[in-house]
Amino acid sequence: TAEIINGKEIAAKKREEIAKEVSKLKENGVTPGLAVILVGNNHASRTYVTNKQKACQELGMHSLLIELPEEVSEEELLAKIDELNHDAEIHGILVQLPIPKHIDEKKVIESISPSKDVDGFHPVNIGRMMTGQNAFLPCTPYGIMVMLEETGISVAGKHVVVVGRSNIVGKPVGQLMLNQHATVTYCHSRTKDLKFHTKQADILVAAVGIANFIKAEHVKEGAVVIDVGINRNEEGKLCGDVDFAEVSEIAGFITPVPKGVGPMTITMLMYNTLKSAEESINR
Ligand code: NAD
Repeated sequence: TAEIINGKEIAAKKREEIAKEVSKLKENGVTPGLAVILVGNNHASRTYVTNKQKACQELGMHSLLIELPEEVSEEELLAKIDELNHDAEIHGILVQLPIPKHIDEKKVIESISPSKDVDGFHPVNIGRMMTGQNAFLPCTPYGIMVMLEETGISVAGKHVVVVGRSNIVGKPVGQLMLNQHATVTYCHSRTKDLKFHTKQADILVAAVGIANFIKAEHVKEGAVVIDVGINRNEEGKLCGDVDFAEVSEIAGFITPVPKGVGPMTITMLMYNTLKSAEESINR
């Protein structure tokens, strides 16, 4: 049976390191600051935002929550972002997605200064990531890379198969794997014979959004299986994209849900905010 990659433990270790760096910065008069903009009253979004604020507090960072009503105009939102772009106490800005339909999401993301884009969603950061330059890396993919590194799993030369091609998870995680010299295959909703591809994976990343979608038949014996999914099953229980009971019987390593990829995501957001604060000193 598979060895479990404990994301919660790895995240705790990383957070300790971040907290130490934060106190060093504070001694030098800089407190890393994260501004989170929440538009409207989406329940899940509110939970995510609260968790991000809590993480900031635990690590000694400054956190600013800006709540805007559902009806806020695009112009007002952009004006707020512009204000934060110029605020010396703020090193990271994120707009919690999704935002209401009357606002152009791409325009909003592009209005955040790339030097404060700690989500790593700005096209400048995506381009820098693709070309292997210094960039803010998107938090979930980055967290996956750190989990592998901390577990001592090397990526170079491995065949990585990513199921899912979203801009926030699937595409960037494949790119980061490629940057570390993996051979990468992307699968998605139009892929024919999914199993043919996934069966070849040394490292299989599932970012599909369908509960228990990846079964034992999709997985090669001994493979590393990374489950990004956060879903509810029929009983309302939290579960991943991977059928853990089945797949953990044949995989070499597996990340559970919860306590897998999830805790790494906010940790890397904190890391990016710290890094931005450090870089602000030299600007
Ligand atoms: P998304 O809905 O944007 O993308 C899903 C992808 O799955 C698409 O690219 C689609 O092509 C592919 N897909 C759908 N049906 C498929 C099928 N039958 N066969 C093969 N591919 C198929 O989702 P996302 O934003 O990438 O998120 C994926 C999952 O990860 C969700 O459960 C989400 O909640 C979770 N998530 C977790 C974290 C975290 O911190 N752990 C962060 C982001 C997202």
